[in-house]
Amino acid sequence: MNGAAARAWLAAAEAEALRGGGDAAPAPVGHVAVIGAGTMGSGLAMALANGGLRVTLVDSAPAGLERGLSAIRRAYEGQAARGRITSEEAAERSGRIAGTRDLAAAAETDAVIEAVFEDLALKREIFAALDRTMRPGALLATNTSGLDIDAIAAATARPGDVVGMHFFSPAHVMRLVEVVRGRATSPAAIATTFALARRLNKVPVLVGNAPGFVGNRMMRRRGEQAERLLLEGTAPERVDGVLRRFGFPMGPFAMLDMAGLDVGLRARRERGATAAVDDALNALGRLGQKTGAGYYRYVPGDRTPHPDPAVTEVAREAAARLGIPPREAEDEEILDRLLLPMVNEGARILEEGMAARPGDIDVVWAHGYGFPPDRGGPMYHADAIGLPEVARRLAGHAARTGDPTLRPAPLLERLAAEGASFTGAPR
Ligand code: NAD
Repeated sequence: MNGAAARAWLAAAEAEALRGGGDAAPAPVGHVAVIGAGTMGSGLAMALANGGLRVTLVDSAPAGLERGLSAIRRAYEGQAARGRITSEEAAERSGRIAGTRDLAAAAETDAVIEAVFEDLALKREIFAALDRTMRPGALLATNTSGLDIDAIAAATARPGDVVGMHFFSPAHVMRLVEVVRGRATSPAAIATTFALARRLNKVPVLVGNAPGFVGNRMMRRRGEQAERLLLEGTAPERVDGVLRRFGFPMGPFAMLDMAGLDVGLRARRERGATAAVDDALNALGRLGQKTGAGYYRYVPGDRTPHPDPAVTEVAREAAARLGIPPREAEDEEILDRLLLPMVNEGARILEEGMAARPGDIDVVWAHGYGFPPDRGGPMYHADAIGLPEVARRLAGHAARTGDPTLRPAPLLERLAAEGASFTGAPR
């Protein structure tokens, strides 16, 4: 592994990703309305205030607004107490954020970032209301994690001004923003979105409007294989350990426990999907850290995951039901089965034009999902293995499991056959 070369690739890819903002002139933005003061909205308000912008934080629920504002106050006080910022800075930043329950207050701002519940009808209602009150040319962004941007834009008479800004939690810390271009999103709106993201010291990457955008779409492939490994008898801590040793800050199961297993279950229900082990843990009320047990168990007041043989038992029962025989997997195979399906999905994303360049995908993974920067990103990693070898291993897993998603994507096969690479480096 040559960490320096991987980091140089990422730095160049990051600079290149900025070109996704295009050449249009960005509109000036000094005052932003954030709609929804929940987990994301309060983090976003802080990110904006930290960038020197004025913020109007809107939440229709009095308790929601109060919770958001006090979370912000506490976070700034904490940063000041730890010496990260001075108490004057803390006061100044807090002072840039004004809370209100009235959506009409957004009318005086230059841009909106909507972060209410993930509910299409609700978001459409809000965008229709914004359409009636916002001045012409104001940027209308949604932080949806997966809803169709075009369906949201269609609730307005100005779909050109509507864009996705997919931030990651915690929004004042994580640097990635997937900028989702809808069918009608104008070049000016994209340019303004990129300029705004840069003001917040974020890394914007332009992506297409397809389910899961880029990052979550690839992560789903990793999740499917992680679940399959459990069904074959591999313990969650083994899977997570392999990814941690590769350099990720945490593995998929520790991450699921942190986010809450119910979040994934809700998303699966919406698309009519199932995941035998995860569904069973949900049914047992093992929702992750918040319930003291998920893929791991937790002692109260401590987030350290402890392996739990009960999970292996749940997986064994599910496997017996599905007729999946146990199978020993070496660490190398585990790593491949987690990472190569992501590469394969990345190739499909490129084929469909949902990301412009392999480097954009690597930037998404480095800044949004903890891919170790010394490894460059999934597409760089695939090149390091060699694409013919990646295609061969994927085809092998596809044949063994009968899983068609593991068959090498046409782009991957073509590049492998041509002796080419994702990064453009000679192989
Ligand atoms: P949340 O439940 O923490 O907060 C949502 C807030 O919206 C609540 O405070 C609620 O009172 C408020 N709200 C509801 N209806 C409203 C209305 N009509 N007007 C004003 N405010 C209203 O949700 P969250 O986790 O912050 O997620 C918000 C959005 O961000 C969702 O679309 C979600 O998919 C997306 N997102 C979440 C994450 C994450 O990790 N939580 C990451 C990326 C994107």
